[in-house]
Amino acid sequence: MRVLKFGGSSLADADRFLRVSDIVVNNQQQAQVALVLSAPAKVTNHLVALVEQTSHGQDAATTLAEIEGIFSRLIAGLKSKYPALADEQLLARMAAELEQIRRLMQGITLLGQCPDNIQAQILSRGEALSIACMEQLLKARGQLVELINPVEMLLAEGGFLESHVNMDVSRARFQQRGIRPDHIYLMAGFTGGNAKGELVLLGRNGSDYSAAVLAACLGAECCEIWTDVDGVYSCDPRLVPDAVLLKRMSYKEAMELSYFGAKVLHPRTIAPIAQFHIPCLIKNSFNPQGEGTLIGPELGGETDLPVKGISDLCDISMINLSGPGMKGMVGMAGRMFSAVSRAGVSVVLITQSSSEYSISFCIHSYDADRARRALEEEFELELKAGLLEEIEMRHQLAIISLVGDGMRTMKGVAARFLTALAQASINIVAIAQGSSERSISAVVGQQKVAEAIKSCHQTLFSSQQFIDIILVGLGGVGGALLTQIRRQQPVLAKQGIGLRVVGLANSRKMALNRDGLDLSNWQVALEQSDVSFSLEAVKQLVEDSHLINPVIVDCTSDEQVANQYADFLATGFHVVTPNKKANTGSLEYYHELRKTALLTRRKFLYETNVGAGLPVIENLQNLIKAGDSLRAFAGILSGSLSFIFGKLDEGLSFSEATLIAKSNGFTEPDPRDDLNGMDVARKLLILAREAGMALDLDDVEVEQALPPGFDASGSAEAFLARLPEADAWFSQRCAEAAAEGKVLRYVGTIADGKCKVAIQAVDDNDPLYKVKDGENALAFFSTYYQPIPLVLRGYGAGTEVTAAGVFADLLRTLNWKQEV
Ligand code: ADP
Ligand code: ASP
Ligand code: MG
Repeated sequence: MRVLKFGGSSLADADRFLRVSDIVVNNQQQAQVALVLSAPAKVTNHLVALVEQTSHGQDAATTLAEIEGIFSRLIAGLKSKYPALADEQLLARMAAELEQIRRLMQGITLLGQCPDNIQAQILSRGEALSIACMEQLLKARGQLVELINPVEMLLAEGGFLESHVNMDVSRARFQQRGIRPDHIYLMAGFTGGNAKGELVLLGRNGSDYSAAVLAACLGAECCEIWTDVDGVYSCDPRLVPDAVLLKRMSYKEAMELSYFGAKVLHPRTIAPIAQFHIPCLIKNSFNPQGEGTLIGPELGGETDLPVKGISDLCDISMINLSGPGMKGMVGMAGRMFSAVSRAGVSVVLITQSSSEYSISFCIHSYDADRARRALEEEFELELKAGLLEEIEMRHQLAIISLVGDGMRTMKGVAARFLTALAQASINIVAIAQGSSERSISAVVGQQKVAEAIKSCHQTLFSSQQFIDIILVGLGGVGGALLTQIRRQQPVLAKQGIGLRVVGLANSRKMALNRDGLDLSNWQVALEQSDVSFSLEAVKQLVEDSHLINPVIVDCTSDEQVANQYADFLATGFHVVTPNKKANTGSLEYYHELRKTALLTRRKFLYETNVGAGLPVIENLQNLIKAGDSLRAFAGILSGSLSFIFGKLDEGLSFSEATLIAKSNGFTEPDPRDDLNGMDVARKLLILAREAGMALDLDDVEVEQALPPGFDASGSAEAFLARLPEADAWFSQRCAEAAAEGKVLRYVGTIADGKCKVAIQAVDDNDPLYKVKDGENALAFFSTYYQPIPLVLRGYGAGTEVTAAGVFADLLRTLNWKQEV
């Protein structure tokens, strides 16, 4: 005998009913089948709503009509495929059941409330009708069918709404009854009967449990739970699309996983089948060929995954009892849990501080009031005497649990678990590890559950990691970055890195798409948009889509955007940018950014602020972290000025050199933005601040790359037309320098705590002597690097190299994975 249970998702309509009957008929040919059915999908929820509405004096006629609709469509669908179906009998049965519900509803309306026994009767009607339909369908298909009435056969103990089955009595009843060969047995799930023979329920989702109980009562060779997914996954596949399908798991793992919320199995299901060593198979009714997940005794062995699954249990409240009276007082915990248990409240998770000063425990939120009252009564005297502090309660919590037999022998799992939560900016309220070491749980705020599961799954199952990019500024660097991202997406995907551009914005418009914008025609998406960039909108997107690694990439040079970085970081975004405005604003903001990033464990990355793609900032930071200190610095920090001054060596006049630089696109559209030295001053300030100097932009002495007093006013054209007037001054200075074997360079220096940007003559011993043609060079004189400085050299401008530098920063947002 095999027990097959089909859930509501497999019974939602006529097509699915027919599919289920195919599976049953096929199976019956191999071995006798006992079938347990749920109500068709949504029916129980409608019945719950109907009771709620009627108890509150609302009209529930539409809800009842929904239920009627589901069953009449079902019966009509079955009839059209099997004309022999006794549909009139079925319709009459449906009408009788609905009439009965209507009568009970009238009673509820009169009473103004719904007693539990009536509620149990109403909620179980979905299963009853499901069985009636399947009975007729199987008969129409020529099968012999025998019904099992769970109210008579399963002795259930507990309340009307959530009872458990007394296995000994129920098994004895089945033994007495005997089995008729060749018949398909049919039993409604979710239902049992109490000692008085009244109908009771086995708790929401209880049909899995019904099947397990029936399998144990019949001594079945196997219990199969058929649902709408291929088996048990490492976590809810609706939440994490690349969740791993588990081939097998132990009874204990399945028990912990379902206890801690994995909806695929009702938590009580495992106990009866484990007790009688019945293998349990979870299978997909939409894919009967799939192997499914086998739940059986623990196997162990190297090949077994140490962590099997991650689950979440929502709507949890935490109660904290603390106070001086707790310490060393024997029996406090005992009294506390007895009181709670007397109130009929089950405790989901317990943690105690080692100081014994406080004990916290979690319960389902629906039990919160009862638990509190029970504790207040139990500890009335202690509370009055101040030995205990007022009972503290927190609501809207969830428990995230990691489950796996192999965790017992594996080190570092807890660390990786907690790091994953921290990386998703999730505050951990409490932690508990089962003494079996088979599970570890963290209590977190409920609103962060999806993020928690995703982040833990990424860390522990090394599945794809995502970087969710919101790119602001679509000019040269932004555009080049998009091209590079598009090119690299498939390459990185093979390495398990999913790059998604979920938002794009220019100064006017913003396009968002949680699944990633199509980068082959992002311009269209942007044109069609009617919103503009705002922190609120991107924040909403991240919250709604539960993105765990969102990155704002600012490729503008806008000060207003830069001023929002602190808010971005505080909200949970990483910030990556070539924009220098934030790092050269007030020192206060400079420090605020770093502090916020540290607090929220987000990254603020700006490698391209200095030297474009050259690895400047990270090297300097690493040196300083390693105890080095910057004594002096000299560098050519502007690609355009590197080019212009290099051309002077070759005998070109200053105005000629500038015009060539401009026509080659090496300068800003208005070359004054390069020649005024402010861009170099900002870079120099960033380096100085990185080295620990508390300076502001005003503190940088800037000598522009123009003759003193040169009139730089007017339009860009007028300025360029006037430029030859500067030639004589430059050729004279060049000649003077040449006489001493030197060349002119536009240099940023840091020395004696001061920053200065100026034209300098350097000789051939100087590391900057040969730097020209747009190259950058940075010479760091430090405690470790002296007298010969550390020199970084290479192209330090250009959209391609800058975009590549931004790209590298983007990938650094993933670093944390290796840090574990
Ligand atoms: P049924 O109607 O068959 O009883 P349920 O909706 O109760 O089905 O349970 C199946 C659902 O459980 C799946 O669709 C899936 O979304 C969800 N689920 C949650 N956690 C897991 C998990 N770890 N593995 C598989 N499914 C899970
Ligand atoms: N129909 C019941 C419910 O939705 C039982 C079940 O499907 O397992 O809770
Ligand atoms: Mg279910």
